[in-house]
Amino acid sequence: MTYSWVGPVAGADEEGAWEALVATARRTVAEGLVVGTSGNVSVRVGDTVLVTPSGVPYDRLAPGDITGVDLDGRQVIGRLVPTSELPMHLAVYRATDARAVVHTHAVHATAVSLLVPELPPVHYMTAALGGPVRVAPYAAYGTDELARNMLDALTGRTGCLLQNHGTITYGASLDQAYDRTAQLEWMSRLWLTAASVPGRTPSLLTADQLAAVTERLRGYGQRP
Ligand code: 13P
Ligand code: ZN
Repeated sequence: MTYSWVGPVAGADEEGAWEALVATARRTVAEGLVVGTSGNVSVRVGDTVLVTPSGVPYDRLAPGDITGVDLDGRQVIGRLVPTSELPMHLAVYRATDARAVVHTHAVHATAVSLLVPELPPVHYMTAALGGPVRVAPYAAYGTDELARNMLDALTGRTGCLLQNHGTITYGASLDQAYDRTAQLEWMSRLWLTAASVPGRTPSLLTADQLAAVTERLRGYGQRP
């Protein structure tokens, strides 16, 4: 007998992670980082990657819509079609220690991707993303070529821009991946704002200044 129906076979860990994933995806819309069903979010639980389904508005996602794949992209949980950007998400999980990935079409960051091959280091938060954020050369959405370009651009970084498309960041948690996207969008807006003043050129941070901040950021915030 052959089955055309997959799962759901989610345990408590996956169900909790799904709830957090849906909350993060809704935040990308609420905070203006995407419009409609643009963008996608994923979170890793063991060797399963939960992902937003393709083309489904986040406010319609319910607990029963949980969607998961293995690291080879085979669907192991749910029935909805996974995000079209599986190649990018899975490439990040295979190459890094990421636990969550956020992809958006944030407007200022996307605008920067039309203008330069790298976001100039205008602010010390550049260091929080591993250094000046590169722009991955354009390739059609959902393709292996886009995933390859993205992985190159991510070398030594936790985020990059996708030319004429958007952003992608990863982190140790959904909150960290989301925050990196928000910081990237904010820095993009900062550079566009400063660079648009006629007759003036924004000052940039040096590699030494960024290295000093990388060190300082290790002690940032509350004690563990
Ligand atoms: P999905 O709806 O398939 O996740 O696609 C949105 C997107 O941003 C593609 O780049
Ligand atoms: Zn996209």
